[in-house]
Amino acid sequence: MSIKENLHQVLQNIPPQVKLVAVSKTKTAADILEVYHEGIRDFGENKVQELTQKYETLPKDIHWHLIGHLQTNKVKYVAPFVHCIQSVDSLKLLKEINKEALRNNRTITCLLQIHIAEEETKFGFSRSELEACLGSDEFNSLKNIQIGGVMGMATFTTNQEQIRKEFKELKSIFEKLRTAYFKESVLFKDISMGMSSDYELAIECGSTIVRVGSSIFGERRYNL
Ligand SMILES: *Cc1c(COP(=O)(O)O)cnc(C)c1O
Repeated sequence: MSIKENLHQVLQNIPPQVKLVAVSKTKTAADILEVYHEGIRDFGENKVQELTQKYETLPKDIHWHLIGHLQTNKVKYVAPFVHCIQSVDSLKLLKEINKEALRNNRTITCLLQIHIAEEETKFGFSRSELEACLGSDEFNSLKNIQIGGVMGMATFTTNQEQIRKEFKELKSIFEKLRTAYFKESVLFKDISMGMSSDYELAIECGSTIVRVGSSIFGERRYNL
């Protein structure tokens, strides 16, 4: 099937209130434009250099989401244009994003990446790190970031029940944070969870943003 056909197949499974971020990492500008011309404006990349190169060559009304681990020394490259940094996992990073957002006269939307998987290797705040961060005066003094919600990745497994458990946990953390720290903010609203293999399950569990790559663009090939 073509990229266009894949996209429409995926869109059939996504209710209108859930946003699709098309994950275009490793894919060409031509592939991205195929999806763009079908009306999609949100794209996700996981590497800073690839993201900035694509930003420069592709239409400027694209909303770029950074979904991969971000080092503080690279924030400056994406701060001028990034729409949302979904992979924020420390107060240190939030402070740097705030600083660069201010320099660019912007407010940058960030999602708090939360560690819900069993694997140690996945990034994200633990529960205790989250509370320490959100409860701190330092966090509350950051005026050029907007916390838009949470993001998480489930364990890499075929066990649907395990994945469901982790998605439900992320939803429950989101609700607790909303009550405890973001009661006044209507902008704290998003739960980014679900990829090609599990986005339908994620939507059942309350996802508001799904990040789908290979089901749209086909398998990724590295080291070519
Ligand atoms: C690559 C990636 C995705 C998309 O994965 P697919 O399985 O290709 O849909 C989603 N989220 C993150 C954080 C990713 O790195």
